Amino acid sequence: MSAQPATAMVEVRAVHKSFGATEVLRGVDLSVGRGEVTVVLGPSGSGKSTLLRTINHLEKVDSGWISVDGGLIGYRRSGDKLYELREREILRQRTRIGFVFQNFNLFPHLTVLENLTEAPLSALGRSQAEAAATARQLLARVGLADRAGAYPRQLSGGQQQRVAIARALALEPALLLFDEPTSALDPELVGEVLDVIKDLAHQGTTMIVVTHEIGFAREVADRVVFMDEGRIVEQGNPAEVLDAPRHERTRAFLSKVL
Ligand code: ADP
Ligand code: MG
Repeated sequence: MSAQPATAMVEVRAVHKSFGATEVLRGVDLSVGRGEVTVVLGPSGSGKSTLLRTINHLEKVDSGWISVDGGLIGYRRSGDKLYELREREILRQRTRIGFVFQNFNLFPHLTVLENLTEAPLSALGRSQAEAAATARQLLARVGLADRAGAYPRQLSGGQQQRVAIARALALEPALLLFDEPTSALDPELVGEVLDVIKDLAHQGTTMIVVTHEIGFAREVADRVVFMDEGRIVEQGNPAEVLDAPRHERTRAFLSKVL
């Protein structure tokens, strides 16, 4: 693999990860440039979620390394040595990386506004007024300005996921990770969530999106990555991977989802 410019937002190098005897990531290399949208495709169990979770250190890698925005994830370099970061430092690092889950993971006992202000208040030390003002701007951006006082259970799945995206943005992340953000939604609600993600893409947000929405990948992705059995089988621009896949496993997968 060729050397990447030092300005890449995400570098994943030779990452291996096992759970017990099962090797789930078998040497993954990936680079994502600033402002790029990378869509990750692949069958269930191929390691997509594990890859995202290692990038924001919800899982520790067994070997290899990951850097985001120039900083090693989970480690600090001093001379030639690597030192594991303390939990506090890992949490601080994680605030730079937004994560949007399939099942929204909103705090059920907090209002929409409180869901958005919780982390800026506790992790960034923002004032209540500042955090609330930012939250209201973000809610407007995802089309939910009028739902600030609602509780998650009072919203549709599509609205809840838009709140979850606004909540991720509230920490002003350098990188956004999406793990199948529309898979839990009724079909008629998928479009409103994809539209929000498309908006973010057009505004230059760097993101990695695991999804089976091939139309979205074709329209929005700078790069499409196909994973199978813990490896990146092929990657390229959408036309290369989606219209002219080089590998039989990619072709077999696409014939099932298209
Ligand atoms: P994908 O997101 O592509 O469906 P995952 O990364 O979730 O794949 O899972 C890859 C493999 O790792 C699966 O076989 C899954 O069962 C296994 N796995 C994932 N997380 C864990 C865990 N915490 N403990 C044990 N096995 C896991
Ligand atoms: Mg998954």
